[in-house]
Amino acid sequence: MLYETTIMNIRDLTIEELKVALDDLSEEKYRAKQVFEWLHKKRITSFDEATNISKNLKEKLKESFDLTFPTIYKEYISKIDETKKYLILLNDGNIIESVLMKYKYGYSLCISSQVGCNMGCAFCASTISGLKRSLSVNELLAQVYVIANHNNIKISHVVIMGSGEPLNNFDNIIKFIEIICCEEGQNISERNITISTCGIIEKIDELAKLNKSLTLALSLHAPNDEIRRKIMPVAKAYDIKSVMKSMANYFIKTNRRITFEYSLIKNVNDSRQCALELVKLFNESFKNKHIDYNVNLIPVNVVKENSFERPDTNTLKSFRSLLENNGVFVNIRRELGKDISGSCGQLRASVK
Ligand code: SAH
Repeated sequence: MLYETTIMNIRDLTIEELKVALDDLSEEKYRAKQVFEWLHKKRITSFDEATNISKNLKEKLKESFDLTFPTIYKEYISKIDETKKYLILLNDGNIIESVLMKYKYGYSLCISSQVGCNMGCAFCASTISGLKRSLSVNELLAQVYVIANHNNIKISHVVIMGSGEPLNNFDNIIKFIEIICCEEGQNISERNITISTCGIIEKIDELAKLNKSLTLALSLHAPNDEIRRKIMPVAKAYDIKSVMKSMANYFIKTNRRITFEYSLIKNVNDSRQCALELVKLFNESFKNKHIDYNVNLIPVNVVKENSFERPDTNTLKSFRSLLENNGVFVNIRRELGKDISGSCGQLRASVK
């Protein structure tokens, strides 16, 4: 028996694992596909909704598996841009946040990977109360399912950029991606999933080895170790050149364009000198290699517990121009959900 000691949440299982589990319950393996589709394509919240499953199997499933699901605790709707922020209540009373954004191409959901975060970035709200725990596969999936159900929509893009460091919840994140991308589930394309990391080298390399078509974003935020270490403690463990090398390797292995996030903070990393150093960093890191990359510039979002400020518009424009004039492809991130604290670095964990 695979799962005899604890009652497992059935959504934590891949379709292959479900086949084994049903076999253990003396059920035909083909039933796994049906059950999986009810759970992951139709996003049911109770076995009773599964109409083509026999009563007998439903009873067995109810006895053998947990199907509880996090729920929406609160919804905030931005008056500016229709962005919606959700507080999601987990079974243990913890609350996480997810943000739904509407684009021309469809709906994109920003999900959390952990309850809180222990990376300690100086400008980010998610880390202020530390890390409580990582999210289970079911809790990662639930953010997509409950929000899609609530709005009666299909979510086409997922960005793993809410609270937490996704690469520190590596196995669950990979399983989440396998389930959400599979044909019998939400069938989201791997290309439409973005993982953002503060730069944990071994995990970036592990991800590269999996050779998935995911988009990988690095939170860079500085052109050198000196500044990076002041605002991102993780930079003390991994120097900037080695992180850049891992990112280049990710592109070489997967052929997926890599992204660099750069939050501009007044008088910290927004000078002309910083822009030029950043160009030099890209040129040196990617010398003699064709690496497809882009930079997302984001004026830092306000977090009440710290005193970081955004640069003025002219500084932002000239920083952008310096990069562009030196051949760097730059996006200025549209800020969504500003009035509901739904922007990057503003998401938090709380408790009911
Ligand atoms: N731990 C991951 C993902 C979560 S943070 C990471 O570090 O990438 C998502 C993005 O928001 C990161 O690029 C992060 O650096 C950025 N961010 C955090 N606080 C911010 C703030 N106050 N303003 C703008 N961006 C912020």
